[in-house]
Amino acid sequence: MSKIGFIGLGNMGGPMAANLVKAGHEVKGFDLVSENLENFVVAGGKAAGTVADAVGDAEIVISMLPAGKHVMAVYSGPEGVLENVADGALLIDCSTIDVTTAREIAEQAAASGFDMLDAPVSGGIMGAQGATLTFMTGASDQAFARAEPVLAQMGKNIIHAGGPGNGQAAKVCNNMLLGISMIGVSEAFNLADKLGLDRQKLFDISSTASGQCWSLTTYCPVPGPVATSPANNDYQPGFSVAMMLKDLKLSQDAASSAGVDTPLGAHATELYDAFETAGNGDVDFSGIIKHLRK
Ligand code: NAD
Repeated sequence: MSKIGFIGLGNMGGPMAANLVKAGHEVKGFDLVSENLENFVVAGGKAAGTVADAVGDAEIVISMLPAGKHVMAVYSGPEGVLENVADGALLIDCSTIDVTTAREIAEQAAASGFDMLDAPVSGGIMGAQGATLTFMTGASDQAFARAEPVLAQMGKNIIHAGGPGNGQAAKVCNNMLLGISMIGVSEAFNLADKLGLDRQKLFDISSTASGQCWSLTTYCPVPGPVATSPANNDYQPGFSVAMMLKDLKLSQDAASSAGVDTPLGAHATELYDAFETAGNGDVDFSGIIKHLRK
């Protein structure tokens, strides 16, 4: 069992840290929101007063923060992780952030002699609670080997995607594809409606033909064909429009810094942006079908 410092005890980090407590680790958590700290103590964790306090004697540090600027703030500077953590600690950032910042922080960590992974997740709050997350990791082979056992206590698929930053690269590529494919499936159902083709018939045919994809068969955006999809629950998330838009914007930042054209990714970003601006940030991302119907 290890001493773990956990920074960021929000919707995802809270249950992830609680799963590490359940697995028998001594976990000291820190969050800016006192209610999150109180909930973590109820779950059996210890509350730290600062980042430095959380990581001072930790063998492993895990962070789950909103965006790149928060991760940079937590790891760098005199009060940050790199200045205050013990020699030899393993550093794991599970936040979804931009590839450039992830690589910058990994470089700083390596220069200070630490193994570090970017390890963003998919699986949402249910996956965090049930310890069934998928981790996409970017790190050296040595760092990955050290991290795999502890990640396996919070998730069920632990994938090594390559060197530093490649976990974030995998996450933005996958979610850009997901945003585009959900729009494609939605357009197909909207066209079928207008052509007088029954939705279930389209589902039965496309789910076994060349239009088959996850947005159709697991997360179908019309009510009926897939009982568990958010379309049957008034588009309650699931995975919200705000989260999808965040990831699409990260994909466009990555495309721009890599000099790559992603015209469908760019258009998907515009469509989700307009849908969010119309007041739908908290709707499941498959609700984009309603926006496209207009
Ligand atoms: P959240 O806002 O609920 O939690 C983030 C926490 O970080 C908050 O409690 C906040 O107070 C804390 N925080 C911010 N700055 C801090 C600092 N300097 N020191 C200590 N704590 C600080 O967000 P979340 O839903 O838990 O998401 C976390 C990350 O996981 C994001 O990068 C998100 O994109 C990613 N993610 C979320 C989901 C999801 O379904 N919620 C799914 C996959 C990935």
